Amino acid sequence: MMATGQELKPGDHIYTKCFGGLYDHHGIYVGKAKVKNPRTGKKEQIENGVIHLLGLDKNGKAKTYQPQCPKCFHESHELRVVLTCLDCSHEGNTIHRYEYEVLLLSFTFKSSGSCSTFTSSEPDVVIKRAYSFLHKKKLRRIQLPF
Ligand SMILES: [Zn+2]
Repeated sequence: MMATGQELKPGDHIYTKCFGGLYDHHGIYVGKAKVKNPRTGKKEQIENGVIHLLGLDKNGKAKTYQPQCPKCFHESHELRVVLTCLDCSHEGNTIHRYEYEVLLLSFTFKSSGSCSTFTSSEPDVVIKRAYSFLHKKKLRRIQLPF
């Protein structure tokens, strides 16, 4: 469910308002992406991947269970950065895109030792950073990026 007049491009920073605006759920739209099918063990392509920090429930706790998504095979078991399809990332909320929040975006993807690239908002750079968060898996060094 996109906000009107918007079309997503890979590298777009998107967010949804959750629980009536109680908090924003952020993600990076990466477009085509590979996800693993747990049934076959093979990677399959999805058209509308989003890398995001898996959401919290309304009590601020990590969700412990979510039925497996038929498109991206995502199941929610813990709080971490995940790659899912667009549907899983917004969970029925309207998606907005950051248009002028380049500073926030740079801040979001700030990681140690990469100061020189802060100002870049090139889509491929953004996507690369999103993937680097995805592959870190551990949240300890991530300051709630999404
Ligand atoms: Zn999904």
